[in-house]
Amino acid sequence: MGSLSELYQSLILDHNRSPRNFRSMENADCHAEGYNPLCGDQLSVWVKLDGDRIEDISFQGSGCAISRASASLMTTAVKGRTVAEAREIFDRFHRMITGQADSTSEKVPAKLAVFAGVAEFPSRVKCAGLSWHALKSALDRGPEKVSTDDEPDVRQR
Ligand code: ZN
Repeated sequence: MGSLSELYQSLILDHNRSPRNFRSMENADCHAEGYNPLCGDQLSVWVKLDGDRIEDISFQGSGCAISRASASLMTTAVKGRTVAEAREIFDRFHRMITGQADSTSEKVPAKLAVFAGVAEFPSRVKCAGLSWHALKSALDRGPEKVSTDDEPDVRQR
């Protein structure tokens, strides 16, 4: 377990230090901001669509290592995918981090499985899920600003 969790930690640290697709986007088709008042994480997500495919995705903002790394890994996980595929990944990722399923049964992309451990830390669930909720709101053309306070389904302990 030791080396595996170290690998996971180094992946999170790497994406926190040099986040991928970390920039604003001028010609985005949709955009939303996410705010996690518990931790102070704040980030914007931009999406450029080509038909129903996510041609480009980027994010910017400030927050803890978990929120930044999760947003960075999210962009790499959904870029080039269809909107339907991105929603499917969101659902699986969300079930994983809220402890409703483990990563193996949910078949999330391997890199995203590094966040399975946050299910044990309810406050961190919101950090890891923030960028995904912003993405979902952007794709749904939902509220421009979403807060993790609005999220009803995080498991209580
Ligand atoms: Zn955070």
